[in-house]
Amino acid sequence: MGDHDQNDQDRKGVAAWWRASPLLGLYRPALVAAGVGLLFSIAGAAAVARWEDRVNKIEFENAAETEAIVMQNGMGEYISRLVALRTLFESTNEEITRSEFETFSTRLFERHPGMLRVAWLPRVNRKERAEYEAAAITDGVSGYRIKSLQGDDFAPAPQGDEYFPIFYSTQPKTSPVYGMDYASIPERRVALERARDGDRITAIRGRLYEPRESSRLPDVIVAVPVYAKGTSRETIADRRRNLAGYVVGVFDLPLLMQSIRVTTGASPAVSVNIYPPFTGRIVSMAHALPDFASSASAPQSMRDVAQGRHWSGILRIGDADWQVRAVPAAGGSLETVYDRAVAVIIVGMLLTLSLATYLMLASRNSRRLSLANRRVLELAQTDVLTGLPNRAFFLARLDMMNSQLSVRGLPFSILMLDLDRFKNVNDSLGHGAGDALLRQVALRLKSALRATDVLARLGGDEFAIIQEACDNQRGSATELAARIAKLVAEPFLLPGHRVEIGTSIGIAIAPDHGSDQEQLLKKADLALYRSKSAGRNCFTVYDEVMSAELEARNTLEGDLRDAIALCQLEVHYQPFVDVASGGRRGFEALVRWRHPSRGLIPPDQFIALAEETGLIVPLGEFVLRRACADAAAWPSDLMVAVNLSPIQFKEAELFETICAALADSGLPPQRLEIEITESVLLERGVENHAFMERLKQIGIELALDDFGTGYSSLSYLTAFPFDKIKIDKSFIRSLTHQPRSSAIISSIVTLARGLDMSVTAEGVETAEEFERLTALGVNFAQGYLFGRPQPVDQITFDAPARRSQRDAA
Ligand code: C2E
Ligand code: CA
Ligand code: CA
Repeated sequence: MGDHDQNDQDRKGVAAWWRASPLLGLYRPALVAAGVGLLFSIAGAAAVARWEDRVNKIEFENAAETEAIVMQNGMGEYISRLVALRTLFESTNEEITRSEFETFSTRLFERHPGMLRVAWLPRVNRKERAEYEAAAITDGVSGYRIKSLQGDDFAPAPQGDEYFPIFYSTQPKTSPVYGMDYASIPERRVALERARDGDRITAIRGRLYEPRESSRLPDVIVAVPVYAKGTSRETIADRRRNLAGYVVGVFDLPLLMQSIRVTTGASPAVSVNIYPPFTGRIVSMAHALPDFASSASAPQSMRDVAQGRHWSGILRIGDADWQVRAVPAAGGSLETVYDRAVAVIIVGMLLTLSLATYLMLASRNSRRLSLANRRVLELAQTDVLTGLPNRAFFLARLDMMNSQLSVRGLPFSILMLDLDRFKNVNDSLGHGAGDALLRQVALRLKSALRATDVLARLGGDEFAIIQEACDNQRGSATELAARIAKLVAEPFLLPGHRVEIGTSIGIAIAPDHGSDQEQLLKKADLALYRSKSAGRNCFTVYDEVMSAELEARNTLEGDLRDAIALCQLEVHYQPFVDVASGGRRGFEALVRWRHPSRGLIPPDQFIALAEETGLIVPLGEFVLRRACADAAAWPSDLMVAVNLSPIQFKEAELFETICAALADSGLPPQRLEIEITESVLLERGVENHAFMERLKQIGIELALDDFGTGYSSLSYLTAFPFDKIKIDKSFIRSLTHQPRSSAIISSIVTLARGLDMSVTAEGVETAEEFERLTALGVNFAQGYLFGRPQPVDQITFDAPARRSQRDAA
């Protein structure tokens, strides 16, 4: 039980390790391929081995069968020679002499080494015995006696009716075999009788009874019956009666087979064993171990042979079937060596190895690739400048927070940040300084956050924060915003500069202010917008009112679009006077919107909107054309001043537009004055400078509007070709109670004079203000004191001018 648990645990452990090990995970395809490849290799090799085996078996069986046929033919050849001897005996009435037999036999088996000896066994009856014995001795076989087997030895045969002694033989005459009565040896006698009765050739396994019989082992003894010439052999009785004797051949079977195989070119790949017959009268020998082996290999037992690959057949010798068992010769071509199977497994392994290696490299490459991809993805979600997450990351995270919100109800806040006066730094100190500043801001912001909060740079000087769930979401969001506003308001030290900026923050809280990305971003932006317009470096939490305002703004935008198309815009003119002479020098064109339901709308309520929406471009062109057309009808000493928005300055065709307005109205350029604010100088300084030069070249006058409200320093003035500076009405307002304002205006006047510029004071409402401004040396004055902005037809000109204006109308 414990063992089982242990095993189970081990298995789980291994499984876990297999799953967990990153290296294994990486190389798993390679390992699987290796395993599968190995299996396939082995299976393939096994199949090929089986096939090889089958092919080999067929080849071997064919070879063995051929071998058997060859042997059978060879054997037939030997036997046919014995039969030739019989024919010799049966063909003549004369006695065959010993020398004739010897000569004929020797010649017959000259090239047949498998034939050990051939003998003639005449049928000798009792009466003939002495005669035969004497004749043999006469022939030179000294001491020839007919002998019979007695016990284990041969001795002169006792008296008997019939003998079949060896009379003639190819053996030397000194051989002890002469006179041996075959009929006295039981198994040989059986074979002889069978041959006689059946008139057939019989064969038996030779057995050595007498060591001196031969120096070589007799393997097979073949007996051929010989009948008396011209006698019948129809019936057994005929045969028994007419038998004359036997021609006997003694074979050395291995030698015989070898000689057959040598002369016929037998396959060396087959090793043949021949076993004596099992059946019949020689059954007693069935158990005897085979001692015939036709090849050099050691003889094998039939049982051994039967265990391996073998082929079974028979070799017919006389009337007996000898068992032939062929086996593939050791080391022969028919021994199954499975070289193809080995080749398959080797090739399989090699392929597996290369596949596994390839997969391993591929996985490593793909891992590298995926790492690279991840890096690219990271980079794609990173702001390169600050190293903070970028807008894409921020939006993705916001989406995630929203979906978490819907699942777990976790509130969060988003804070949108926009740096104040960043453009200033960028424009005045260069992009390098701007970048450095952004990096420092990023660090400061980061330091104010918890680890769970997300800080991203959305682009430019915009940052955003996602603040995760707190107990009091609103409280912690505003607390964070206040902390950040304070942090960013602290001065930054840039190389060689100390800059002070600030940040405006808009806050939206989920789910209070929405639960989808778009809504939250829009509301945070609205709050940010409010912060910016509320004076910067502050934070605002979104409020429903803002949306209402936005709605109104959106409506207004649509209306304004229509207004331009429907000519609901009007241009009113406010005069400005020459302080020295007190005479009117010209009028400033100020746009008005006659709204069908809301009445006359002052520009303060729609110029900003027009600038944001780009509607300022057609609007500005309308005012310009209207003003030029109107002024063309005025007395020629009156100027017209037209306000141009910085947005218009970015339009490529502004110069052409102005030229066209002048050309179409016929107003000389010298009578047109263009008013621009300081912000135009901050952005695109170089391009705007060139543009202003072009305007000046054709005679147009340039005025710097609202001087003193922006951030510009007096140094700007020296860099740009202005003709006039218009001091903002806020200075004039404080003139009577702020001694400092007098000092500022005084220094502006002094500077302008040095730069060959004139100075206009705006918003002059009282005579007292006018008096002071006159004392300060201001050149021109504009304000309600001299006239409110009015429609052109309510302005009184000198008689000729008015007439011509009416004519034009
Ligand atoms: P601004 O260019 O400074 O124009 C002078 C503004 O001061 C005018 O306001 C005028 O009505 C007002 N004003 C004049 N005299 C006095 C005074 O004695 N006391 C007071 N309190 N205000 C006085 P308005 O017409 O509402 O224009 C506001 C601003 O709208 C203008 O300021 C100008 O920046 C912009 N604006 C007006 N028309 C156009 C235009 O056609 N194009 C562009 N781009 N901006 C325009
Ligand atoms: Ca103006
Ligand atoms: Ca102004």
